[in-house]
Amino acid sequence: MQAPSVGGVMLPRGNGEAIRLSRGASLTDFAEKINANPASLVAVMMNLGEMVTATQSVSDETLHLLAGEMNYTVQIVSPEEEDRELLESFDLEFGENEGTEEDLVVRPPVVTVMGHVDHGKTRLLDAIRKTNVIAGEAGGITQHIGAYQVATEVNGEDRAITFIDTPGHEAFTAMRARGARSTDIAILVVAANDGVMPQTVEALNHAKAAEVPIVVAVNKIDVEGADPTKVRGQLTEYGLVAEEYGGDTMFVDISAKQGLHIDNLLEAVVLTADAALDLRANPHQDAQGIAIESRLDRGRGAVATVLVQRGTLRVGDTMVVGDAYGRVRAMLDDSGNTVAEAGPSTPVQVLGLTNVPGAGDNFIVVEEDRTARQIAEKRAARERNAAFAKRTRRVSLEDLDKVLKAGEVQQLNLIIKGDASGSVEALESSLLQLDVGEEVDIRVLHRGVGAVTESDIDLAMGSDAIVIGFNVRAAGRAAQMAEREGVDVRYYSVIYQAIEEIEAALKGMLKPEYEEVELGTAEIREVFRSSKLGNLAGVLIRSGEVRRNTKARLLRDGKVIAENLTIEGLRRFKDDVTEIREGFEGGINLGNFNDIKVDDVIATYEMREKPRA
Ligand code: GDP
Repeated sequence: MQAPSVGGVMLPRGNGEAIRLSRGASLTDFAEKINANPASLVAVMMNLGEMVTATQSVSDETLHLLAGEMNYTVQIVSPEEEDRELLESFDLEFGENEGTEEDLVVRPPVVTVMGHVDHGKTRLLDAIRKTNVIAGEAGGITQHIGAYQVATEVNGEDRAITFIDTPGHEAFTAMRARGARSTDIAILVVAANDGVMPQTVEALNHAKAAEVPIVVAVNKIDVEGADPTKVRGQLTEYGLVAEEYGGDTMFVDISAKQGLHIDNLLEAVVLTADAALDLRANPHQDAQGIAIESRLDRGRGAVATVLVQRGTLRVGDTMVVGDAYGRVRAMLDDSGNTVAEAGPSTPVQVLGLTNVPGAGDNFIVVEEDRTARQIAEKRAARERNAAFAKRTRRVSLEDLDKVLKAGEVQQLNLIIKGDASGSVEALESSLLQLDVGEEVDIRVLHRGVGAVTESDIDLAMGSDAIVIGFNVRAAGRAAQMAEREGVDVRYYSVIYQAIEEIEAALKGMLKPEYEEVELGTAEIREVFRSSKLGNLAGVLIRSGEVRRNTKARLLRDGKVIAENLTIEGLRRFKDDVTEIREGFEGGINLGNFNDIKVDDVIATYEMREKPRA
């Protein structure tokens, strides 16, 4: 076969054979698979009109295009598949119980509470927790770790149930989207005075899609106008038929507020689990499970709540969770007590991980620290590659509407950083659900727990993304870097506000924003009293420049003493001047404001419209 050449470089040519490449692969990866020189692939791309470097991650389309040109076909390997292969290469498998039938024992069901807003999900989770703390567990401080376990008695037998205590289906869906199966049973809360509402239906659909059996808690039966029968009728339309009407869904009338029939609800959960599911796990193998929630604690480092799904997790075990790993230094249960081990369906808080895993990341215990580190590093590298592969161009929230209209971008790229993985996942899934019309795509390139870092800004620059900080700020030099590079970083502390703003931006309704820009600071060295002008400040300009007629504030010992002042007069020696620069001395008159002292600082600023990139 004659090998064609491009620009003098021999072109490798295939026979249509398939090569497997992971998402975000580079031309070098490609070249390796077909035993070619990476430079020759760069040449092919150039010939196709695209400048690509050999080591840069490229999109799926580029990989297909390139392959087609050289008569290969490409199979892009999904992240899940790749992860399975990664674990396989270490002789590990996630998701299956080891051993035989005899090794399996019954494990408690894991429950998520869902339903319409205000129907009582949070209240119910509180009520369950309060009435059913496992007895004899004194001493611990009840704390929120993202899940808890309660005991209940069914048919004279002690049974346990594990509750994921982030109410709502956002977290549930976010985890499921990542292939994690966290929940065995969903409790659908419907307020009896309100009936089936939009989010009731949404929650119901999510549970059905995940093939998770539903128990209906008809709540607020203590409220006047409560109509539990009507709720049963309404839900029939969605395929949930109550047992008493010949269906197979258990309905329990409760009052979360008064603690009414909570036990019946727990019983219904256990009975539904027994009837519909075969919940068994092998407690005698190395532990596996998923991360539910995690955050960075100032004193303790990465703190992650994991749900053990099979095996038993012990202090001293080496685990890898997503791209975090480490040896379990200590474990705390949902009452704040330290525990030495945790079996199937038990949630525990784990200390000792290198960094913070994401909600829904799976964990697996391995023999050697080295294995854990290698798996974690491979995963981190893959995430980075995948993120870079999604690169496009730079954009800001204000001009989003314009660039969308101009067809310059068809998607809004986001990087989300937050204080806890739960909130990050919730924000992400809410944003992804925004109805933004068909032409626009919202893509989350990267998400994580912790401050906005320089590497986030890097990624944003490369891919024209907007960075969202939820209850976190930029760390170190990241803020300056963002400013310098024109990366739009937005801070929020309320989820709906973030969603509203992004929705507004997509519709082109964002008002111009003003920001305060510091112009200069002046230190008061002397105070002169003038009968005509009041107190005048003899100053040394410490930074920037001070200009006449600009706004100023007065600081004393670092605290703001007065706001909204104006530099009314500015003098150098005997002359009135319009500005004085850093390092020079002069006199400032703050109009009729006279409360000035030696060592006070006058800081001047102006409000500028935030630049639109
Ligand atoms: P969520 O949005 O579903 O988590 O709802 P919440 O648990 O926050 O409850 C919403 C409101 O309903 C709160 O003011 C609760 O105190 C109230 N509530 C919850 N359950 C009951 C109940 O059984 N009876 C009454 N009267 N009020 C309830």
